[in-house]
Amino acid sequence: MSSFEFFKQVNDAFDLAASYTKYERGLLDQIKVCNNVYHVTFPLRRDDGTIEVIEGWRVQHSHHKEPTKGGIRYSRNVNEDEVKALASLMTYKCAIVNVPFGGAKGGVCIRRSDYSRNEIERITRRYTYELLRKEFIGPGYDVPAPDYGTTGQEMAWILDTYRQFNKDINSDASVTGKPLPQGGIRGRTEATGRGVYFGVREACNNKEDMKELGLEHGLEGKTFVIQGLGNVGYHAAKYLIEGGAKMVGVAEREGSIYSTDGINLEDLMEYRKRNGTILDYKGYDSYEASDKVYELEADIAVPAALENQINKNNMEKIKAKIIAEAANGPTTSEAHKILKKQGCLIIPDTYLNAGGVVVSYFEWLKNLSHVRFGRLGRRFEEGSYRRILEVIEEYANTHFTDEEKYQIAHGASESDLVDSGLEETMIDAYNDINEIRKQYDIDLRTAAFVNAIKKVAIIYEQMGIFP
Ligand code: NAD
Repeated sequence: MSSFEFFKQVNDAFDLAASYTKYERGLLDQIKVCNNVYHVTFPLRRDDGTIEVIEGWRVQHSHHKEPTKGGIRYSRNVNEDEVKALASLMTYKCAIVNVPFGGAKGGVCIRRSDYSRNEIERITRRYTYELLRKEFIGPGYDVPAPDYGTTGQEMAWILDTYRQFNKDINSDASVTGKPLPQGGIRGRTEATGRGVYFGVREACNNKEDMKELGLEHGLEGKTFVIQGLGNVGYHAAKYLIEGGAKMVGVAEREGSIYSTDGINLEDLMEYRKRNGTILDYKGYDSYEASDKVYELEADIAVPAALENQINKNNMEKIKAKIIAEAANGPTTSEAHKILKKQGCLIIPDTYLNAGGVVVSYFEWLKNLSHVRFGRLGRRFEEGSYRRILEVIEEYANTHFTDEEKYQIAHGASESDLVDSGLEETMIDAYNDINEIRKQYDIDLRTAAFVNAIKKVAIIYEQMGIFP
């Protein structure tokens, strides 16, 4: 990882896209830089009584919209460059899917499995306290969420710590991705993976684009390989399979497996829980290298683990025609160029994994409004639809079954509304960037950046530079 300059890679993609716009250099520089970079170190008293110094960051990339928003990552690879890159990706991502936040990201340099649950709780609470001291957290300042290595549990500890120091009525909106009883929203856990599914489905539904790739249109029957079965990877795989695609290859830390017959996701998850590995599952082809999965035959490759996974070592051997970037920064700029030459469609991270922040936005709105979506209108809506059905039954002298009545007349619940909002957002945003791609004859990543740059630049232009 050390020679991999993630922030530079993001900025290279930005610069390429900027060449298709007419904004002045100074404004483009202002969009690119990270507005605030906060580095913290603090002591952890370990369970065995020893003291260890923990290192972390929170980076607010852009204040063109506030609050800033972005996940918190727990990983041994976390460093300042990585957090800056991820924070900047958040700015572009939010712009692409029209979520009114600036970008931010947090990271703590720990390998989760090296610490007990109590130690993780102490690290999380102390890290939150450090954020609070400098106003790097708050419903109107900066709102964290889960990312690699963190879950709803850490978000619950963050919220509880925040509340100890703030009697603000909107405290719940200081962090998203929370468990439901703590003010979370239905659909947040699966949101990023579900968004990946909507994005890939939309790309596959485009007849012209699929023809260019030499593929049939539609998701049904397409094969895919996936790297990483964590929150994003597991849910992306689940919905792609439900949508008719076949999972033929899987990679986890310990290696990869492959079977043209298709792999049963739930059964594989159970197997890994029992055996601590995916290798040798059902006697399928097993490889010790995790990135071997990209060399295996499939229509779609879904990197869903970490950055820098499709790189100079494997870029020439990649078989898939569609690279669906569920993870952040999985493809290096060098690999991107080669894959483009090979005629691959790369659905970029800045768009494809935005489902998490979209539903986090819904959660933040729910917390600020202090009411569950659908609570006020659902029963009323359902009553009106049922009365319409009764009139139809009377005039047409027909009878709907209870199941038909439910399907037609049920009022929208919170999960229905979240899912519909996410689907709408992912479809619209795909078509926006695909149109820009065609207009300028560029690739989808560059098109996504062009779209983001224009949306951020216009805000800077309209608000002026203070003072
Ligand atoms: P996670 O911690 O839930 O899961 C990551 C998975 O990847 C784990 O199962 C881990 O064992 C596996 N993994 C690690 N190294 C691997 C390797 N070399 N090969 C194969 N598997 C490996 O993390 P996540 O939340 O699913 O995040 C995954 C990616 O998606 C990250 O790039 C993250 O920034 C991005 N992302 C996450 C969210 C979110 O809502 N969680 C939102 C947007 C983007």
